[in-house]
This record gives sequence, structure tokens and C-alpha cells, in this order.
Amino acid sequence: MNSMTAAVFARKGVLEIQERPLPELVQANEVILEVEATGVCGTDLHILSDPPGHPATEGVILGHEIVARIVQLGDEVKHYKLGQRVTVDANLKCGLCRPCRRGKWNHCENWTTIGIFQDGGFARYVKVPEKALQPLADHLPLKDAIWTELLSCVIGSTDQVAIQPGQLAVVIGAGPAGMLHGLMFKAAGARVMMADVSPFRLELASKAGLEPLNVKETALQDAVMSATDDWGADVVVDAVGNQFQTALELVGTGGVVSLFGMNSHAKPELSQNLVTRKELRIFGSYVGYNTFPRAIQVLESAAIKPSSLTTHEVNVADLPEAIAAARRGEAMKVMVKP
Ligand SMILES: [Zn+2]
Ligand SMILES: [Zn+2]
Repeated sequence: MNSMTAAVFARKGVLEIQERPLPELVQANEVILEVEATGVCGTDLHILSDPPGHPATEGVILGHEIVARIVQLGDEVKHYKLGQRVTVDANLKCGLCRPCRRGKWNHCENWTTIGIFQDGGFARYVKVPEKALQPLADHLPLKDAIWTELLSCVIGSTDQVAIQPGQLAVVIGAGPAGMLHGLMFKAAGARVMMADVSPFRLELASKAGLEPLNVKETALQDAVMSATDDWGADVVVDAVGNQFQTALELVGTGGVVSLFGMNSHAKPELSQNLVTRKELRIFGSYVGYNTFPRAIQVLESAAIKPSSLTTHEVNVADLPEAIAAARRGEAMKVMVKP
């Protein structure tokens, strides 16, 4: 066998199933991975939208949430061995530009991403540089392991929130990133309300021990105020990207707002005085920042178990159909097994 089935970003809006040659080692610092599974990320959906919501290189095999085993090692690879289980920190930083030199490498000006700008994990094999690898324990169930990359981003937000036991958090948007926020807050001993319009998502939230709030049926403001004796939430997360004003209304005095979701078109009208009067702390968080090892630790120790949110398991050939389901809001996390 010298070819593999791969899901390729063929052109604007089109994911094409193609036969591709197996990747070969070129640089001595590279490894070849045999993919166990690769998760479908919201970014993949943005890439495949028309017009696209995220750039990607045409002709590239997509898939950046990779869980795999090393099957071939370059001569200069020092820290990993054959057969080892790994996940991939897909964002490759340059280490040279100004943000990198200032330690803000998550803002690297030259950064490239495996599975977006070079071939990724929607195929049986993928080639990555050693520096992208993160070791993963054999015992971690695949359906949990697949969440590592997204969790590393979410920890960038939950670290800043620093929620305390007994506090109340409201997460607006019960998609994958919102759900991980909810699970992290719950693990920290907080009470968590998940607000969304999708009964499918809210059902999963409820099964995961989070309080579902259907904003089509219930006035969010009323629900939060009656749950807090009119004080407001200690923490509000906007996991959608255009819910800033709602967050300001839901959060209580001295509370925290995390703006995590991204929508470059959102220009909300804001009641600025609420920030001042309630003495709020508001912050943004963009991609995790040295958070991969802790994301792995959180999953390996089963501090949270997002496996119940891995709703679909497909092979590469069936991926286009699964992506359509995700677009219809009928999937939380799709896992692709080559
Ligand atoms: Zn992603
Ligand atoms: Zn850089």
C-alpha cells in the first residue's frame, strides 16, 4: 500500500476525498505518525464555508486535532521513541519574530498550522516536526484525547477567570468550546449554567451535569437573577463572539467576563457604565499559551471527561457528510478514524 485516503481542502467551500501518496521523511527532525483519530474543529467548518471564515492552503489535507503513534523517526529526533503515543500542538511558531521574542508566541507573525497550511490528520499518516509533539498516556480513552487541542485553548481563558468553588458561572454558547469551559468550571467546584438555543446541545450539557438554559424558552436575565437572588453571575463567558452586552447584563458586581468566541463582524452597542459601576474585570483570550501539558494532565487524570461530547465517529470517506451534520448543529464533536 503506497497511498492513503485523505480529506483535502480542494478549493473554496469544497472538501474532497482523494488518494494521496504516503508522507515521507525529508528533514531529520521530523516524524511520521500513524493517526488513531483526528477531531473536527470549528475552524475546519470556517475553512470550508463559502465565503471562508478562516484561511487555509488549497490542496492541503485538513485536520489539526490529532491523536497518533510514532511509526518513523528522523535521525535527529531525540525526545520520542517509535510506537509512542502523542498528540500534536499544530501551531508552529517561528521563535524569531517580535511577538515570539517577547514571549507572546501565540501571536507569532509567521505561524503556520498543521492541518490548515500544511498536510494534517484527516488521513492514515501525517508528517510533523518533533517540536509539535506532545506525549500522551496510553490509557487515555481516544474520545477524551481528541479534545486536547481545544482544551489547551480553553485553559487560556479559564486560567484568567480563576473561578472559585461555590461561584456561579454562565456560559453563553454550548458548542465544544463553551462545553469545555463548563466542565472546567464544574470541576473547580462552581455551579454552571449553559445558555444556548439548540436542544441537542443543551441535552448534552444536562447529561454532563451542567444546567441547561434554552434562551428561546427562558429569559436568560431572569433565570440568572433568580438563581443568584438578583446579584448576577460571578463569571460570564461569551463563547459565541457577539454576546458582550448580554454578558455585561448577566454578571454581578465585582464579576469577571471572558470574551472567548470570535466574530470579526461583531460591533455591539455596549453599556459602558455597567463595567465601571459593577467594577468588572473583562478580558480576551486567544489560543492557549503553554497550556498543552496541563490540558493533557486534566484529561489523563479524568478531572474532566469530555468523551460524552464526542458524538460522532466516522472514517475519512464519510467526513463530508459528518461535516454537514455538524453544520446543522446535530454533532458536538466528530472524530475521524482513518
Ligand atoms: Zn482547532
Ligand atoms: Zn514568531
